[in-house]
Amino acid sequence: MGSMHTGLEESKGGMAALARFYAERAAGGAALIVTGGIAPNREGALGPGGARMQRKRHAREHRLITEAVHNEGGRICMQILHGGRYSYHPFNVAPSAKKAPINRFKPRQLTDYGVRRTIRSFVHAAELAKSAGYDGVEIMGSEGYLINQFLVEETNTREDRWGGTFKKRMLFPVEIVRRIREACGPDFLIMYRLSMLDLVPKGSSWEEVVTLAKAVESAGADVLNTGIGWHEARIPTIATMVPRGHFSFVTKKLKGHVGIPLVATNRFNNPETCEMALKDGVSDLISMARPFLADPEIVVKSELNRAHEINTCIGCNQACLDHIFKRKVATCLVNPRASHEGKWPLDAKASTSLRVAVVGSGPAGLSASIEAARLGHDVQLFDEGREIGGQFNLAKKIPGKEEFYETLRYFENMLEKFNVKTHLNHPVIASEIGAHFDAIILASGVRPRGFHIPGLENQAEIVGYTDVLSAKVEVGRRVAIIGAGGIGFDVADFLSHQSEGHFSQTWGIDEELKSRGGLLDSVSGESPREIHLFQRSEGKVGGGLGKTTGWIHRKTLKDRGVETHSGVEYQSWSDGTLHFIEGGEEKSLEVDHVVVCAGQESRQELLAELNGLNVQVQVIGGAKDARGLDAQRAIREGLEAAYALSAWSVNPVS
Ligand code: FAD
Ligand code: NAP
Ligand code: SF4
Repeated sequence: MGSMHTGLEESKGGMAALARFYAERAAGGAALIVTGGIAPNREGALGPGGARMQRKRHAREHRLITEAVHNEGGRICMQILHGGRYSYHPFNVAPSAKKAPINRFKPRQLTDYGVRRTIRSFVHAAELAKSAGYDGVEIMGSEGYLINQFLVEETNTREDRWGGTFKKRMLFPVEIVRRIREACGPDFLIMYRLSMLDLVPKGSSWEEVVTLAKAVESAGADVLNTGIGWHEARIPTIATMVPRGHFSFVTKKLKGHVGIPLVATNRFNNPETCEMALKDGVSDLISMARPFLADPEIVVKSELNRAHEINTCIGCNQACLDHIFKRKVATCLVNPRASHEGKWPLDAKASTSLRVAVVGSGPAGLSASIEAARLGHDVQLFDEGREIGGQFNLAKKIPGKEEFYETLRYFENMLEKFNVKTHLNHPVIASEIGAHFDAIILASGVRPRGFHIPGLENQAEIVGYTDVLSAKVEVGRRVAIIGAGGIGFDVADFLSHQSEGHFSQTWGIDEELKSRGGLLDSVSGESPREIHLFQRSEGKVGGGLGKTTGWIHRKTLKDRGVETHSGVEYQSWSDGTLHFIEGGEEKSLEVDHVVVCAGQESRQELLAELNGLNVQVQVIGGAKDARGLDAQRAIREGLEAAYALSAWSVNPVS
């Protein structure tokens, strides 16, 4: 299980929560767990107050984690991560005083003494980790953190023994590995995360990567893990549009250059992709990180022929990485239990089994149904549609969002496993269910908000996003999209997408690894349509999209020539022309279709009648509130509603 910073590291009571988190993953079959990055000193911490392994008391605190993992038969390494110029605080340091484009704090250049002291901090952190019971350490040498900054000329302009030739630039990591081996002895695992593809201009050349790999092996590393892309790289490396296992070609290229095992990483999220890579000789081991957030039992389920039960990571970053950037504890959109294992225990059982009706099989209703049934309730699920999934059936149609099919596959199999009786093509009316159930969970979701301007009422040219995505209308060549939220962007992507381009070509990745940093010019496909994306608010179009994925969507549309308009006042429609004011100027645009993506409204029409019945009613997801709704909230509210149905306990006395 690859390293993930969860934010629990810095939270009150976080060590106990982390111990539960890792223990569940060890019990779920993770052969070797790597913790989130822990800094070796204050300068290296990623933010103010960031987790460190610097004092004996830190090691004592970590014992909780190592013991919990070992009790489950697992093994665990602590990752030592020094942020260098990425550390988000004013005490950050780097080989040279060059500010990172993704940080407002300019680093102080380390003196020669400072470099030596930093190496000592790495060694001390490893010694403390060993004393805390860790089976080894992973040295974070990728993603653009301090070690990477030493390796590349662009960030290391030093002229002393730590800079200049590549041999001198790599002395820093090689010394760290050598001295940790010396200090911690032969039986302590040292994994080195090697940046095999920097994806930044003037990054390492392939020859330098191989040279470093060999040097790190000679210095005492046992395993080489793959690192892909610095954080400042403008190429997606883990988001959902990255094809599964795409970057394994890089690890494969290193095979044969070193004798120690190699680990392949990035966008492995199911057993088939892992097996294929291993069979193809890509690497000796596979590391998955986020898939363990989505499903702590991913390995055990794979081993026991229960792969159909895996709750697959969809690569959305919404609840994991995006949370970390908001300084919130990382969890998972498809598994809100992640990092909160103690709050909703998997083995809990309801003290009384209730007859529960769930109205609506969108993400909220699906989550409520399977969690209520898991708790021991007798659950029936109703939907007026012909398939389960609600709005996820539209989301899955967006190019690059095909992973949403996996979430629906998971829910479908769980409904079967927990004997939830599912009624499709069944619009519910309140009187029909009132008498037969003890509790009703209303998850009737949302309907798209209408868009009204003079002249556009009932015209053939105005269409909703649902009709567009379900191919009920053939959209013309010139399109105006009203609303530039997540759905407006997705619809623009859907309409501007031409054919499946090769990911590496589209994003300019040199698969032959001949250029520094692995970068080439990108070749993005032209849109088959002229598309205009509108919003009324001022400011950047798409500014509200997720922190770690929004830039990808904005760049994709820009490269395809999609025009964006903000601060718009819609005026009227006449003869195939949309009239609007932009920047105080009256403008008009001839289009074939106006596609409305203007947000949603709650579907609550059943609520008043249900409240009149003598049953417990809970409203969740979009039905409760359409504002700020996303699948993360919908799925979490489904889980919460199930646990709120009746009292429950773990290991109840029979
Ligand atoms: P819904 O998904 O709307 O489901 C409600 C269900 O209730 C429907 O199936 C409906 O048929 C049924 N229903 C309603 N009334 C009745 C009745 N009387 N009887 C029987 N059945 C009834 N969110 C994200 O977080 N990340 C994304 O990347 C993302 N991408 C998206 C892309 C697109 C194109 C779209 C359209 C949405 C996307 N979303 C995304 C939003 C996400 O899908 C919604 O937030 C989520 O589906 C809301 O879940 P819900 O269960 O509350 O409602
Ligand atoms: P949204 O993000 O709230 O966007 C609605 C858009 O419609 C805004 O651009 C808004 O901008 C505009 N709008 C609102 N009222 C309007 C009106 N009366 N007339 C004209 N325009 C109006 O909602 P959404 O795009 O429907 O997405 C729904 C949810 O799904 C969101 O929470 C989103 O996070 C989630 N989602 C996420 C992703 C993802 O990739 N993470 C993708 C899709 C959806 P102005 O008010 O400025 O005009
Ligand atoms: Fe994967 Fe999304 Fe969950 Fe993160 S939030 S682990 S990306 S499914």
